[in-house]
Amino acid sequence: NAKNRGRNTYCLFLSGMGDEVRQRRALEKDLSAALSEDQFELYFQPRMNLSTCRIESYEALIRWHHPEQGLINPAEFIPVAEASGQIVAIGKYVLAEALRVASTTILSSNISLNVSPVQFRDRDFVDDVQRAIANSGIPAERIELEITETTLIEDDARALAILTRLKEIGVKIALDDFGVGYSSLSYLSRFPFDCIKIDRSFVHEARRNYGSLAIIETVVRLGKALNMRVVAEGVEDTEKLLLLAQRGCHEVQGFLIGRPAPVNRLVREIPVEVQEALDTQKFGGLQIFEAETPKD
Ligand code: C2E
Ligand code: MG
Ligand code: MG
Ligand code: MG
Repeated sequence: NAKNRGRNTYCLFLSGMGDEVRQRRALEKDLSAALSEDQFELYFQPRMNLSTCRIESYEALIRWHHPEQGLINPAEFIPVAEASGQIVAIGKYVLAEALRVASTTILSSNISLNVSPVQFRDRDFVDDVQRAIANSGIPAERIELEITETTLIEDDARALAILTRLKEIGVKIALDDFGVGYSSLSYLSRFPFDCIKIDRSFVHEARRNYGSLAIIETVVRLGKALNMRVVAEGVEDTEKLLLLAQRGCHEVQGFLIGRPAPVNRLVREIPVEVQEALDTQKFGGLQIFEAETPKD
């Protein structure tokens, strides 16, 4: 009867919750060993400048080689590390390791790294950045910190103060995943960004969804007006690449240019198909890519 079913559902719900909590606790416990046991690794994904057709920077993306579970992606463990505060120590590792790679392996390229809102608000964050850069000997202008809108929503004044100090050090600031979440256009005029990264969901939809293409065009124009570079994330095929190039986007990043890879397999050259697609566009009659017109 209904009463029994209700009770069963309740029990299932509880045991389901228990699993999730247990899995989180287990991850949290394993995370505390991960740093000392050297289980993290940075992968690097290239970013191509569309006016030079060259890879000019790389984004550092963390990976965790879990001793039993194998490779774990950041989407799975970063939230756990944020909730426990472990992200602060992990963030320091990312900073040190990214700068080490920038000063040894990718000598002439820029490097960008992701900063969690929790790390951003840690009281030592700016000092840590300053010290890491000084120790590395890398010019601060070669380093870009990517933050998301979540970082900005809580305490505007404090966030602005932190960003201002970072700008004084000379690092660049990018607004990551722009257009999703708590997007507010006013962030763009209130905070000193050097770069806007358009979230990959708009790029994926750009051919099928007229609205997504319109948003991309608008962000490119906004970026130009505000003197910020515009980078499109998640570019997976040449059609999207050409569409973005035609719209005046400054840079592209995505599996088409190169997947994130460990340092010893770093993507250094753009793929031939990318070069050919851009050449065809330049020399062989322009193909204009449009989104399908909206049906009403
Ligand atoms: P993000 O900063 O927006 O990074 C881009 C994500 O999109 C990466 O996932 C990358 O592998 C993926 N990606 C790149 N090109 C393509 C493409 O063409 N198609 C598709 N479908 N995906 C693409 P990843 O490495 O799993 O990282 C996920 C998120 O985890 C990152 O999103 C970032 O928010 C966070 N993250 C990664 N590394 C770090 C880190 O060192 N510190 C912190 N705090 N967060 C990190
Ligand atoms: Mg990022
Ligand atoms: Mg992103
Ligand atoms: Mg993201």
